[in-house]
Amino acid sequence: MSRVYNFSAGPAVLPEEVLQEAAAEMLDYKGSGMSVMEMSHRSKTYQNILNEAEADLRELMNIPDNYKVLFLQGGASQQFAMIPMNLMKNGVADYIITGQWAKKAYAEAKLYGKANAIASSADKTFSYIPDCSCLPISEDADYVYICENNTIYGTKFHTLPNTKGKTLVADVSSCFLSEPVDVTKYGVIYGGVQKNIGPAGVVIVIIREDLITEDVLPGTPTMLRYKTHADAGSLYNTPPAYGIYICGKVFKWLKAQGGLEAMKAYNEKKAKILYDFLDQSKLFKGTVEKKDRSLMNVPFVTGDADMDAKFVKEAEKAGFVNLKGHRTVGGMRASIYNAMPIEGVEKLVAFMQKFEEENS
Ligand SMILES: *Cc1c(COP(=O)(O)O)cnc(C)c1O
Repeated sequence: MSRVYNFSAGPAVLPEEVLQEAAAEMLDYKGSGMSVMEMSHRSKTYQNILNEAEADLRELMNIPDNYKVLFLQGGASQQFAMIPMNLMKNGVADYIITGQWAKKAYAEAKLYGKANAIASSADKTFSYIPDCSCLPISEDADYVYICENNTIYGTKFHTLPNTKGKTLVADVSSCFLSEPVDVTKYGVIYGGVQKNIGPAGVVIVIIREDLITEDVLPGTPTMLRYKTHADAGSLYNTPPAYGIYICGKVFKWLKAQGGLEAMKAYNEKKAKILYDFLDQSKLFKGTVEKKDRSLMNVPFVTGDADMDAKFVKEAEKAGFVNLKGHRTVGGMRASIYNAMPIEGVEKLVAFMQKFEEENS
């Protein structure tokens, strides 16, 4: 068996210990005589898996009791619709446009009400986070929406926007559980799990209870109402059961690493190795304003498309895969999520150094 260093933006690297545990339990989960994949989601065994996953996530993120944790399907993209359908009581919402994912969420919200783009960093290819200390928040806005970590462009909100008292909704798909968060600052925190937590197909929604009501837009399908899933404890219908089981294992792995404070320290240390190299390199350079850099997604370029392609090709041969940048940015992107070991980043930087020497 040989594992590569996988720098994919998502689906992405998972902790090896988690994969090994899942493999060991594949045919017979804890004496049940079956795989979790084959198990009734109404069984006591599965209920325990779900309960433990929720309890561990609550502990990791210090989620207050007045927030519900929902394990849903449809990916992060389905939330682009669910959020306006459930939250647009006045039919108005403000969006901060910091990349493709925020743009998509904004376009979707427009199908359901008046969505306003109140700030954007499109003028510089989303290479920074706009100043959000005094935005023209709409008086009747039902919420203010951000994509907290921009997977494609490699920027992160290091300070949350001043929403002037309005509910903050955040897509945290690519920074989920990478550092501690103060849940009380948000109305809704959600993310697809395939970036930093588990297998694609699960989306986790952490939502303040007062936002879960029957007062949703007319025609909102039962499956797209938060209340449906909150009332049923994420078991209204068959949930993405196996995916949730793997998420649960990752939560336990994170607790064993020391929780989110420890992950933050580890992630900062990892990212610094790569950013420090980029800052002194004569061949490679980062594409993002320093103050807004993400700890998770690190885009960089040489400035020459042929050289970029050569690098990606040689890196792959050396066991560093999925380094090609998003088609809208070009160049390279190294996604260094929680499960990317520090050796992976150290070895990548050593490889980049060697490549630079050979190509200058
Ligand atoms: C990947 C990603 C999405 C889309 O996730 P899907 O699960 O494919 O719908 C949305 N937002 C962000 C920030 C992402 O990184």
